[in-house]
Amino acid sequence: MQSLDIPQSSSNPEVVHSARVLVIEDEELIREMVVVSLQEEGYEVTTATDGRTASHLLQSGEPTTKEFPFDLIVLDLMLPRVNGLDICRWLRYQGSIVPILILSAKVTETDRVLGLEVGADDYITKPFSMPEFIARCRALLRRQRNYASPQAPTKQFRDVMLFPQECRVTVRGKDITLSPKEFRLLELFIGSPRRVWSREHLIEQVWGPDFLGDTKTVDVHIRWLREKLEPDPAQPEYIVTVRGFGYRLG
Ligand code: CA
Repeated sequence: MQSLDIPQSSSNPEVVHSARVLVIEDEELIREMVVVSLQEEGYEVTTATDGRTASHLLQSGEPTTKEFPFDLIVLDLMLPRVNGLDICRWLRYQGSIVPILILSAKVTETDRVLGLEVGADDYITKPFSMPEFIARCRALLRRQRNYASPQAPTKQFRDVMLFPQECRVTVRGKDITLSPKEFRLLELFIGSPRRVWSREHLIEQVWGPDFLGDTKTVDVHIRWLREKLEPDPAQPEYIVTVRGFGYRLG
C-alpha cells in the first residue's frame, strides 16, 4: 500500500501530488503491464482486482469534491462481483467528473457505445499498445486539468450557466451532472455561440487528435447533453443540428 503522506513543497503550494490513477482490472498480466507503464509516467497507482474492492476504494472519498482520491480511473468491464459498467454508472450517478478510461475485450460497437453512454470518457479494446494507452491517459488527465483552469470566467447561454473553475453547470437554476466529455462539449459551444462545429472538429477538440473511434461518438454525447439541457430533447433549441455540417449552439 502507498503512504498517504504528501511531500511538503514550500516553493509551490499548488503542486501537492502527481496524478493518482486507480486501475481496476482482474487479469494479472494486463494489470501489471498497465501499472508499470503508469508508474514510469510518474503517476501514483492504486489497484483493485474486483468490482467490490474498487467500489470500497471509490467510496472512500466524496466523488464531487477535490477530496476525491483519484484523478483518473482505468476500468476493465468484465470484473468479478461488480462489473465495470455498474461502477461507471455509479460514479456518474454520484456526480463524479473523474475521467474514466475503459479497457475491454468487448469489441462490438454496441459495447463501445454502451460504455460511453454510462459515462466513460474513452474506450480502448484489448489487446492494445502501451504507448497508445499512455497517450490516452495523458490526454484525459490534461483535459481534466485544462478546464479547471483558474482564470476561466463563468459562461452563460440563455438559462445555462457554466462555471469552468468548479466544473459545474446549472440549467434553469438547478445543478446538472455532466460527464467530462459533455462538459467540454458544452464549454466549446458556449465559448463560440452560433459557430457551426463539424463532428470531426468536435472530436479533435474534445477527444483529441489521437482518438480512433468514429463520429457516432459525438452524436451519442450530443444526445446526452440535450437530454440534460433541453426542455424538450426531441425538439432541441439549445444544441441544434445543422444538416450536412454538424452542430451549433442556439
Ligand atoms: Ca476482466
